[in-house]
Amino acid sequence: MFHDSFPGNLFAALRCSQFIKQFFPKIKIAFGGGYCNTELRSLNDPRIFDFVDFISLDDGEGPLLKIVEYLNGNVGKDELERTFILENHLVVYKNKTPNTIYHHRDLPAPDYSGLPFDKYLSFLDVVNPMHRMWTDYRWNKLTISHGCYWKQCTFCDVNLDYISNYQITTAVDLANKIEQIIEQTGITGFHFVDEAAPPKILRALSEELILRKLKITWWTNIRFEKTFSLELCELMAKSGCIAVTGGLEVASDRLLAKMKKGVDVGQVARVTNNFSKHNILVHAYLMFGFPTETEQETIDSLEIVRQLFEQNCIQSAYWHQFTTTIHSPIGKNPQDFGIKITGPIFKGFAENDLFHEDPTGANHPKYSKGLNKALNSYLNKSGFEKEMQDWFEFSVPATSHSKDLIEKSLV
Ligand code: SF4
Repeated sequence: MFHDSFPGNLFAALRCSQFIKQFFPKIKIAFGGGYCNTELRSLNDPRIFDFVDFISLDDGEGPLLKIVEYLNGNVGKDELERTFILENHLVVYKNKTPNTIYHHRDLPAPDYSGLPFDKYLSFLDVVNPMHRMWTDYRWNKLTISHGCYWKQCTFCDVNLDYISNYQITTAVDLANKIEQIIEQTGITGFHFVDEAAPPKILRALSEELILRKLKITWWTNIRFEKTFSLELCELMAKSGCIAVTGGLEVASDRLLAKMKKGVDVGQVARVTNNFSKHNILVHAYLMFGFPTETEQETIDSLEIVRQLFEQNCIQSAYWHQFTTTIHSPIGKNPQDFGIKITGPIFKGFAENDLFHEDPTGANHPKYSKGLNKALNSYLNKSGFEKEMQDWFEFSVPATSHSKDLIEKSLV
């Protein structure tokens, strides 16, 4: 079974499948995970089944169990759940209902025993501190919650199960799982791979870890919401939290409201400052090119990012250019966001990223180079004194923000 989360994993997964099919033709291959869940929901091109036998959607436990039962000859094809197969040269979606559902709190700890950790390579390919954490070293992966408790952001896949189906467990259950995984792997570093870890359970988990004197190092993805007080950040740091990642997106209150992000710039400054004061590294996901975003807003957003680095509220960040996806509220109702979808034409395989025209927004792609240049400099704690114009090879407006906007919002 391959779990491929991102389009970048697909080619490697297909090459592995090709190898297995060629040399071990009796082995059956199933694909599932993020890439399939988002991109392959309308699959009807049979060619992928030259490499794979099953493609399942959404949570994998139920579908995988049925696939195993089917391969053992205990059930027929029609008992498969949320799974594409090839039948008479046609792609067929088998989905026996009601589905076999496992609630998040009833799932056992993931089992990592037997993995050859001593053979893992250490990657030190980028200078970005957070990207290094993602790719370097071995972290035990665990989810605190399933889905997202917020599930409102207009650019996000809020219509899909992996975001919309929010389920939580208890701190005691999580601490038990953490103890089991340490026993299996001997590794005490944990990456909680949540869409957005809820602050309430992070508090309870921190208290439980401290109570059990369980010494671990952990990091996770959060929303920069005001519940992360100085006191909560201190508690998290004491329990072993070393880093958080979260979406600041476009640092503009007008656009954050359009995104339904549920935060504003002042709040992000205060919350990230709370983490940083307790030496928890903060990585911000940044976005440019949101529908209707003007040139002035892009420059002002960069100025906010500059000030957040200068004030040591954030230590790491990365720019993504906005893309409309088919499962997001913007993709479903582009006219409400002032854009027009222009393609691509679906050809039977992947369907997720859409092309769009943004008649009132800036010419977004041309800012990419300058934004990245500035960010790389701020990451290295330099270039704070430069004017916005210095980062771009074409004329840009000066920022409309005062130089002490973030500093003022921290008092
Ligand atoms: S972008 Fe993050 S916080 Fe917003 S709905 Fe998606 S997962 Fe939740």
